Amino acid sequence: MGEDRQAVARGGVVRELFPRPTILVGLGTLLFAAAVPGVIPIFYTFLATDIMILALFGLSLNLLLGYTGMVSFGHAAYVGVGGYAAGLLFLRAGVPAAAAYLLGPVAAALAAMLFGFFAVRLSAVYFAMLTLAFQMIVYTIVFKWRSLTGGEDGLRGLRPAESLQGPIADYYWSLGVVALCALAMYVLVNSSLGYTLRAIRENPVRTQHMGVNVRLHQWIAFVIAGFFAGIAGVILAFSKGSMFPEYVYWTAAADPILVAVLGGMHAYLGPVVGAVFYRLMVYLVGRYTEYWPLVEGAILVLVAITMPQGIIGFLQRLRGGRARATPAARAAGRPEAFAPRRAPQSRSRPADGRKEVLRVVELRKHFGGVRAVDGVSLSVEEGKVHAIIGPNGAGKSTLFNMLTGYLQSDAGQVFFYGREISQLPPHAIIGSRISRTFQITSILKGLTAYENVLIALLARRRRTLDCLTPAKGLAVEDTWRLLELVGLSGQADQISGFLSHGDQKRLELAIALANDPVLLLLDEPTAGMAPQERLESVQLVKRIARQEGLTVLFTEHDMDVVFSAADRITVMHQGRILADGGPEEIRSDDRVQKVYLGVSV
Ligand code: ADP
Ligand code: MG
Repeated sequence: MGEDRQAVARGGVVRELFPRPTILVGLGTLLFAAAVPGVIPIFYTFLATDIMILALFGLSLNLLLGYTGMVSFGHAAYVGVGGYAAGLLFLRAGVPAAAAYLLGPVAAALAAMLFGFFAVRLSAVYFAMLTLAFQMIVYTIVFKWRSLTGGEDGLRGLRPAESLQGPIADYYWSLGVVALCALAMYVLVNSSLGYTLRAIRENPVRTQHMGVNVRLHQWIAFVIAGFFAGIAGVILAFSKGSMFPEYVYWTAAADPILVAVLGGMHAYLGPVVGAVFYRLMVYLVGRYTEYWPLVEGAILVLVAITMPQGIIGFLQRLRGGRARATPAARAAGRPEAFAPRRAPQSRSRPADGRKEVLRVVELRKHFGGVRAVDGVSLSVEEGKVHAIIGPNGAGKSTLFNMLTGYLQSDAGQVFFYGREISQLPPHAIIGSRISRTFQITSILKGLTAYENVLIALLARRRRTLDCLTPAKGLAVEDTWRLLELVGLSGQADQISGFLSHGDQKRLELAIALANDPVLLLLDEPTAGMAPQERLESVQLVKRIARQEGLTVLFTEHDMDVVFSAADRITVMHQGRILADGGPEEIRSDDRVQKVYLGVSV
C-alpha cells in the first residue's frame, strides 16, 4: 500500500490520466461548446442543450455498455426517476430547486440500486429484459398516477431560479453540469474501479478468478450509471420546464445505446460524438423531407456497416492508429531499476512439506449419467509440486473446477489449511490465496498484457472499488516484475488476445501469481505447446514455486514433463483415483501402466 502511494506521488499519474492530447481534446470540446450560443440563432440553443443532455445520458449508459459490457435496455428509467423526483420535490413538496437538483439523481441511484440488485443476478439477455421491464414499471407509474405526475399531460411548471430563465442561461448551466459529470466519469473509467469494470467486460470468469466479486462490481456500476442518468434527467426537467411520460417510454432507452454505438463505445467521448451526430442528423433530415425516418434509418445502417467501431473508431483507423489505443491504454513507464529475480510480495514461508494445504474428501460431480468425478479424496502437502494425471475425460478439469468453486460439487468437501471452502464463491476462494489457471487459457483478451497483470494485482490489494486513483499509477513495479518473471515484459503493451498461445499461457500464470498465492492450481499448463516449450514452462513453474515456497497442483498429459517436475503424482481414471504416490511408485505401478501409460514408460 505504501508503495502504491509512492507510485502515485511520483507524479506521473496526473500526466498519465491527462496526457496532452486528452487535455487538448477536452478543452477544445469545452471551448467549442461554450462558443456555440454566440454563433447560432437562439432557437438552436434548445437543440444544443438537448444534445448535451443526450451526451450525458449516453456517457452514463456507456459505463455499462462500453466499459462493463452490460447491455441495459432500460436506462431511460433513471432519467425518468431523476427528472420526476426532482420535479415533484420542487413542485409538490416545496423543496428548494437546488436541493431538488441534488435529490433527483440520488433518487435515480436508489432506484438503480433496487432494480440493479435483481438485474445483475441474470445474464446477458435476461439482464436486458429485466432492465426493460423496470423501465416499463416506471413508465406505468408516471403515466397512470395522474394526480401526482400529471399523467400524459406531463409535469409542468418546473421553472426554478430567476437566474436560470431563458435558453442561453439553461445552456450554460447544463454545459457546466455535463462537463463536470464528464470529468467525473473520465476519472472513474481510468481508476481501479474503471479497470476492474473493463476486466468484467472482457472476461467475467477470469475477473472472478482474480478474486473480484463480479456481481457486486456490476451492481455498483449500475448504480453509478443510474446516478449520472438521473443528473441528465434533472437537467432535462429544469431546462424544458416539464417532464413527460414519453421520456420513459421503452423506445427512449434506445437513444443512449444508439449514440454510444454510433460514436464508438470503446472511446470515452464516443457517446458525445454520437449524440451530436444523431441529433443533428435527425434535425437536418427532418427539415428537408417528410420521409425522414426512412432516410434516418438508411444513414444509420450505412454508419453501422462502414464503421463497426463507431465514428471515433473510424477516424482513428483513418489516422492509422489502433482503434482503441488511447494514451491511457499504454503501460506505465517501466521503472529504471528493480530486482527482476523475485516475484512481488515475496515471503519466507516455511515449506517443510509436513503441513496439509489442501484436503479433498469424497468429492463428487455427475453430469447426467456421466460420473465425471466420483468420490475423489486427495491430500496436497505444503511446498510440494503435485501432479494429477489421467487420460482425457478422467475428470481432472471437473475436479479443479470444484476446488475453486467454478462448479458446485454434488457431494464432498474441500478444506484449505483445515478450513472448509467447498461452499464459498470463487472470488472468496481466490481471495484466500488460491490461484488457478484454466485448461482453455482464460485472460482479458481485449486488454494489454500489462493491464491483465495490473488488474490482478489491484484485485489482490482490494483496490477494485477505488474510483478516484488512476489505475495506471498503482502497482507499477510489481506489474513489471511479474511480467519480467514470466518473460513478457517485452510485450507489455500488446493486446493480450494477439499474443502467441504460449505467451497467453505465461500471461495467465502471471495473473495467477499476482494473487500472491499459497496454492497454485494449473490445469494443463502446457496444453498446445511444443514439447520443448512444455518442459521449459513446467521448469519455470517449478522454479517459481521453490523460490516462493508455493504449493502447486497441476494436471498434465506429457509423461516426461510429469516425471521431471512432480514430487507426487495422483492418477485419475474415470472419475476415480487409481493410484497415488511418488514418481517411482507410479512409474512401476501395474494398474497405472495398464490403463494409462500403456506398456512402455
Ligand atoms: P479431463 O479434464 O480429465 O480431460 P473433464 O473433467 O474435462 O476431464 O471431463 C470428465 C468427464 O465429464 C468427461 O466425460 C466430460 O465429457 C464430462 N464433462 C465435463 N464437463 C461437462 C459438462 N459441463 N457437462 C457434461 N459433461 C461434462
Ligand atoms: Mg481437462
